[in-house]
Amino acid sequence: MNFFKYIRCLLKRIEQTLLGVAFVEFVRYNDEKIKRMWKMKAVVYEGIGKVFLKDVEKPYLGEDTVIVKVHSCAICGTDVKAYTIGIASIKPPVILGHEFVGEVVETGKRITGFHPGDRVTMATTLPCGRCRMCRMHLFNMCLNKLPVGTHTNGAFAEYLEVPFRGVEHGNLMHVPDTLSDDDGSIAEPLGCVINGQNLAHVGFPDTVAVIGGGPLGLLHAETAKARGALVTVLVQRSPKRCEMARAFNIDHVVCSQSEDPVQAVMDLTSGAGADVVINAAPDRDAVRLAFRLVAKGGRVSLFASVPKDDPFVGLDVNFIHYNQVSVFGASDSTARNHNEALALLSSGRISTKALITHRFALDGFFKGIEAIKTREALKVVIHP
Ligand SMILES: [Zn+2]
Ligand SMILES: [Zn+2]
Repeated sequence: MNFFKYIRCLLKRIEQTLLGVAFVEFVRYNDEKIKRMWKMKAVVYEGIGKVFLKDVEKPYLGEDTVIVKVHSCAICGTDVKAYTIGIASIKPPVILGHEFVGEVVETGKRITGFHPGDRVTMATTLPCGRCRMCRMHLFNMCLNKLPVGTHTNGAFAEYLEVPFRGVEHGNLMHVPDTLSDDDGSIAEPLGCVINGQNLAHVGFPDTVAVIGGGPLGLLHAETAKARGALVTVLVQRSPKRCEMARAFNIDHVVCSQSEDPVQAVMDLTSGAGADVVINAAPDRDAVRLAFRLVAKGGRVSLFASVPKDDPFVGLDVNFIHYNQVSVFGASDSTARNHNEALALLSSGRISTKALITHRFALDGFFKGIEAIKTREALKVVIHP
């Protein structure tokens, strides 16, 4: 090797090394920034009792999807269940969260009707639109449904990718300007409440008894009032929750630990019983109680599920038969119910101020779960 070639080689080495060092330094200096370009924080379900806050890849825009920056996402009983006892139908890993409001940041080529900056929420059980149940417009019963936040990534994350199905069947919808992000996140559970009350035809001039003073029970009582029910009664066991219920627009709160709920409802209805009884407590005793509170010709809505290891309840069939009691199952909601929920929330007839008791950043998710488990919280909203 001649001298000049040697010098050139040496300079190249130095240059490479300097560049290399500079590159490594640059990456190190901007590590957090670079990572944030394609990573985001999310609450990921990885199996029973295995829910973690971790860095995951940001969703990429497809030509028929919408990317939403999540502003508010409320914790649902489903999320608590997923965290504590697990849900067999969830296919991990998946980002939890399905009660959200966010802002559109990107839309795919095939998307119309949504633009960056739009505030949106979604009825998160996405139907196929083609099966027998969808043809009957029972979209929440879709045989090929895709529930967001359990079967596809949800909204306890900085960003959410809305699949085309969400746009195709009207599940993704705009949030009225009059509604805050946090209040809008209540539309999903309220949609489920409305589905139950549509099925049980709740309205004027019903006396409606609701069993269970959790967030869903409270929403049921106020929704019944908004639909024209003349008298609403909430039956709740724990005195603490009874106290919390008094902040809501409910005619009578019956604390069943100190008062006989059957006697209380009979006294309020001149011995007739309630026209409609809605069970919003995940408890077999509550189901049995519902049939003791209902009037002749009345309706019972089985809104809450009961523990799946023993879902059987002994019922007096003759009571149902001779008294012409109608029983309604109710589960989940459709885009129509979600839309109705947004309208009801906008009307100001739901006490969201008393309902949303806790707010946390994404890293407060587990604190939120604890607050729900200890029954200190009603609704917890997370701000990713
Ligand atoms: Zn929910
Ligand atoms: Zn379907």
